[in-house]
Amino acid sequence: MTVVIAVPKEQAPDELRVAIVPEVVKKLTQSGYEVRIEHDAGTGAYYPDNLFIAAGAKIVSNRTDLFNGARIILCVQPPTIAEIDQLSEGTVVIGFMNPARNLDAVARMRDRNITAFALELVPRITRAQSMDALSSQATAGGYSAAILGAANCPKFLPMLTTAAGTIRPASVLILGAGVAGLMAIATAKRLGAVVEAYDVRRAAGEQVRSLGARFLELEINAEGQGGYARELTAVEKEKEQQMVSAAVARADIVITTAAIPGQKAPILITGETVSMMRPGAVIVDLAAESGGNCELTRSGRTIREHGVTILGPRNLPAQVPYHSSQMYAKNLQSFLSLLIDKEGMLVREYADEILSASLLVHSGEVRHKPTRDLMTGGKP
Ligand code: NAD
Repeated sequence: MTVVIAVPKEQAPDELRVAIVPEVVKKLTQSGYEVRIEHDAGTGAYYPDNLFIAAGAKIVSNRTDLFNGARIILCVQPPTIAEIDQLSEGTVVIGFMNPARNLDAVARMRDRNITAFALELVPRITRAQSMDALSSQATAGGYSAAILGAANCPKFLPMLTTAAGTIRPASVLILGAGVAGLMAIATAKRLGAVVEAYDVRRAAGEQVRSLGARFLELEINAEGQGGYARELTAVEKEKEQQMVSAAVARADIVITTAAIPGQKAPILITGETVSMMRPGAVIVDLAAESGGNCELTRSGRTIREHGVTILGPRNLPAQVPYHSSQMYAKNLQSFLSLLIDKEGMLVREYADEILSASLLVHSGEVRHKPTRDLMTGGKP
């Protein structure tokens, strides 16, 4: 029987991305799958229905016809309870699940016997690089952050030598040099700014320098497990704060991306530091959704304090929806290749390391232990 893959239109406010693009539809339909896409699902990302039809998809205008008989659902944002209730038992849903903040939806998927793969749980091993949606979307977010910073800055970013005088280049500081931070560095450099960056992981220094930016050195190394940052001690935090504050005060644009997985974002810029910044300076806080790296950030809002503009954007990858959707869809295409066997059938066992690590809910159980612990308060 033909495997039916369905793609609903994203429902979250300001979500312009779509989980599939025509190029991926073409590959999947050529491989024998039926691809159904909800009417207008790609419009926000500039993939109109006619491009999907030309690639071999069926456009469906109501949810009943979309989900009826679909084995796999591809999405960007986690499904809502109402959407979960429309799915048949055993349906496989793949997308970002943000499980810690969506426990009710996780419970509903468990109770309705849905199988859910969470793309944020895909392990960051070499074989999974093409499926790493966290990285592809962080790339889009880092790019958008630099553009947003430049658009809100009252200065030119590049050095200019003109008949009307010489303009000094703007200085941009990036705090947190992971995937998003590195992309923000590269973008700010291309715009001609002088760029400095800081990360608690010393290993990031080499990558920062290779992009032509200056790396701020602190005499500590806070690389934790799996390449992620560990939490700093109180003394380390104090030293870091002093060095970061001095760099923040001299920057025209500060882009913060510091995150510790599963925890509230660390505060790197206090209100007092903001008061030391230049008038007209801009902070783009990519960690706004997880509490913010700046004490004054308000998630989803732009505020002005001490002449400084502080932006707390919520969904930066959606600001470049055409390419962020393209990259996301490619990540999903790679992920799907693990789920479907040579005969075009869905695999029954999720023994593969990538599948088992990203399996959030299956057979009426929450398979991801940290999420299960959150739901049960750690009780078995
Ligand atoms: P992330 O979004 O979890 O965090 C962003 C950055 O903030 C990280 O570089 C982190 O070190 C930094 N940070 C945390 N606390 C900080 C603080 N107090 N001050 C300054 N910086 C702070 O990071 P990410 O982009 O998801 O990347 C995390 C790691 O995973 C990196 O080592 C990255 O190179 C690695 N990675 C590996 C692969 C792969 O091998 N396939 C793919 C992507 C990322």
